Amino acid sequence: MKPSPAPLVTALELTLRCPCRCQTCGSRAGAPRKGELSHDEWVKVISDIADLGCKRLTLLGGEPLLYPGWAELVQAARERDLSVDLISSGQGVDESVASTMRDCGLGSVTVSVDGLAETHDAQRRVSGCFEQAMRAIRRIDRAGLKVGVTSQVNRGNLSQLEALAPLLEEAGVLGWQLQLTLPMGRAEDHTQLTLPPEQMPALLHELRRLARRQGLRPHITDNLGYCTQDDSELRTIQGGFPRPWLGCRAGLDVLGIMSDGRVKGCLALPDLCVEGNVRQEAIATLWNDPNRYGYNRQYTPEQLSGSCASCDKSQRCRGGCLATAYAMHGRPGQSSHCFRLHTG
Ligand code: SF4
Ligand code: SF4
Repeated sequence: MKPSPAPLVTALELTLRCPCRCQTCGSRAGAPRKGELSHDEWVKVISDIADLGCKRLTLLGGEPLLYPGWAELVQAARERDLSVDLISSGQGVDESVASTMRDCGLGSVTVSVDGLAETHDAQRRVSGCFEQAMRAIRRIDRAGLKVGVTSQVNRGNLSQLEALAPLLEEAGVLGWQLQLTLPMGRAEDHTQLTLPPEQMPALLHELRRLARRQGLRPHITDNLGYCTQDDSELRTIQGGFPRPWLGCRAGLDVLGIMSDGRVKGCLALPDLCVEGNVRQEAIATLWNDPNRYGYNRQYTPEQLSGSCASCDKSQRCRGGCLATAYAMHGRPGQSSHCFRLHTG
C-alpha cells in the first residue's frame, strides 16, 4: 500500500519514566529507557517532522509530564504549526501544570482512567490514583483545555463502564476512547485481565448500550471492532466526523518515535518492527524508504491467516490492528477478537 507523503500524526514517547506501574502497561513503563533522547535531540526531531510535512503530534510516555522540557517541546512544535495533544496518567497535574498545558499551546489532553476508583488504583498499582486522575481532569477543564479520557477495557472493568460514564461526564470529559488490554509488556504477567474472544459479544452489547446513552458515550479505537454494521458509528468520536475502519495505518500515515530514538510505524507494535533510529538516519530517510514498514507497504493477502484469510471484508480490513495480532498471535494478519467473528 502506498504511504502518505508525510505521517498525518507522529507519536513521541518522551520518556518511559512513569509514576505508575500498571498491570496493563504494554511497554512496562516505570524506569526511563537507557539513552533517552536529550532535549536538543527532541527539538531536532520535531523540526524534522515539521519539515517532512506532518501536522500533528501526540506526546505520551511513560508519563510525558515527567520529561522536564515537555512544555518547551510543545512550544517548539506550535512554532512550526504542528498541533499537539498529550496523553497523561494525570498524576501531579495541579492548577499550575494545567495552566502551563494551556499556555504552552496544547490542543487537548487525554487522561487514562481504567475503571472505578478501586479497580483503577489496583490496576495502576498506585493508591489514590483515580482521585488524582479525576482532579486532573477537572483542573484541565477549568484551565480551558479540551480534556478526554482513554480507558483500557479488560476483565476487571468491563462491568464498570456504565457507572464510569456519568463520573467522567460530570468532571468535564468531552471524548472517551476505549481500547482492549493486550497481553503485551507488563500485561503479559497479568493475562487473566485480557478479555477472551468469548467475551466479545458482551463487550459489543455494552458498547451498543452505551452508544444510546444521553451525554458522554465512548468510542472504540484501533484495537477493537471491525466490520460490523455499526462499526463506523461505534468508532466515531463524539461530535466528530464518521470514522470508518480502513485497516492499520502504521507506516502509511502514522509514525512513532521511542524515547531512545527508535522509530516504528506505530508505538504499539513490538520491537521487531523497529525501522531504524533518528540518531543514525534522518527522519525523512526513515519515512521515505519504500522497503520499510513492509507489513503494510508491501502488504499482500497472503499475510492473512485464520478467519481473516477467508473473510469477505479482508481487502479493506487486512486483519484488524497489527499490534493486537502480534500480541495475541505473534504475527500480523490474524484476529481472534474481531466483533464480526463473534456477532456478525
Ligand atoms: S475477520 Fe479479520 S479481516 Fe475480517 S473483519 Fe475481522 S479482523 Fe477484519
Ligand atoms: S498497530 Fe494497531 S494501533 Fe497501531 S496504527 Fe495499526 S491498527 Fe492502529
